[in-house]
Amino acid sequence: MKTIADVNLKGKKVLVRVDFNVPLTPDKKITDETRIKETIPTIRKILDDGGAVILMSHLGRPKSGFDPEFSMAPVVPVLSRMLNKDIVFIPELFGSKVKEAAAALNPGDVMLLENLRFHKEEEKADKNFAKEVAALGDVYVNDAFATAHRAHMSTAIIAEFFPGNKYFGFLLANEKIYLDKVLHDARRPFTAIIGGAKVSTKIPVLKNLVGKVDNLIIGGGMMFTFMNALGGAVGKSLFEPDCLEQTKEILNEAMYRSVNLYLPIDAVISDAFANDANTKVCPSNSIPGEWKGLDIGPKSRAKFAEVIYNSQTILWNGPMGVFEMPAFSKGTKAIAIAVANATLKGSFSLLGGGDSVAAVNEYNLCDMFSYVSTGGGAMLEYMEGLELPGIKALME
Ligand code: AMP
Repeated sequence: MKTIADVNLKGKKVLVRVDFNVPLTPDKKITDETRIKETIPTIRKILDDGGAVILMSHLGRPKSGFDPEFSMAPVVPVLSRMLNKDIVFIPELFGSKVKEAAAALNPGDVMLLENLRFHKEEEKADKNFAKEVAALGDVYVNDAFATAHRAHMSTAIIAEFFPGNKYFGFLLANEKIYLDKVLHDARRPFTAIIGGAKVSTKIPVLKNLVGKVDNLIIGGGMMFTFMNALGGAVGKSLFEPDCLEQTKEILNEAMYRSVNLYLPIDAVISDAFANDANTKVCPSNSIPGEWKGLDIGPKSRAKFAEVIYNSQTILWNGPMGVFEMPAFSKGTKAIAIAVANATLKGSFSLLGGGDSVAAVNEYNLCDMFSYVSTGGGAMLEYMEGLELPGIKALME
């Protein structure tokens, strides 16, 4: 893995793929600046070396062509404040004006390109478009982990035009280092906590992890397909009959490998999908017909916290319940506190996935984790054991 720490970028124009796909309010205020902040070390390193930076990203899912609704413009003042310098930004499609502005950059300058997805060639991974964009810079850096599972023009194809001149940015490098540490070099006992809504989206991850962990904790809506597979009654809870066979395979695999698979003992159930609905706690395998399970119960919280506390390595993706509603957030919060406590004691913890990170952020506990991944889909694919196109393109 060649990172930008290995090279002096003095006098170079460096094209950096970042992920500035930030959340925006209707009046275009950025509500979470994390993704911008995380790329500052990479940008700073290039500037400190005496290079110029050309940043490129996507934002949202625009249709083809320029659309002010999806412009990168709201990023400019935030980036400018963080770097304490003006940002060159041409709010136009890629063309002669953009090329001229890039050609005029001096060492120390920072330019931001407009949303790459205004060009359908970005997602189509078009080679000619890659060649045109590549001509702007001398060096290519990828620092966009959250988009590394996409084989798009700017995340993968463009790297072909920089043989010997393509590098991992610090963020992408850290993501790979920490995920590899957990997946291939975990201190034992190693516990994975997997939650979230649907088991269908997590089956490949569970299949890969069951061969690596000592303890597998399951929570969230996906627990009910497991409960059903074990003969339990799940009422009106989230349940995916199409996944029953694969769920049974995971249960068997865990038994075969002597992995401790922890399912919730009890659940917080509700008579409606609403914060003010009637709720009660019941055993998670006997949920009455018209009720649905929306969180793990108190006995599960205590048991999971104990397993987590006794782990040396902890990987967490996916909330334990419908944490967006306070009535069903206790499970997710208890797990966040348990992982934070274990980390304080010296365990290594890695958290990922948009919803779990949002929850832990809400509890102000993000700083208590060893590492918080910026990738949702990308992290899941990495945990499935897949090679991410964005990473592969830099390694070749
Ligand atoms: P995912 O994107 O698969 O990680 O799922 C995150 C979503 O799962 C969150 O929006 C939670 O509200 C939801 N979720 C967690 N537990 C449950 C549950 N028991 N029933 C329905 N949805 C749930």
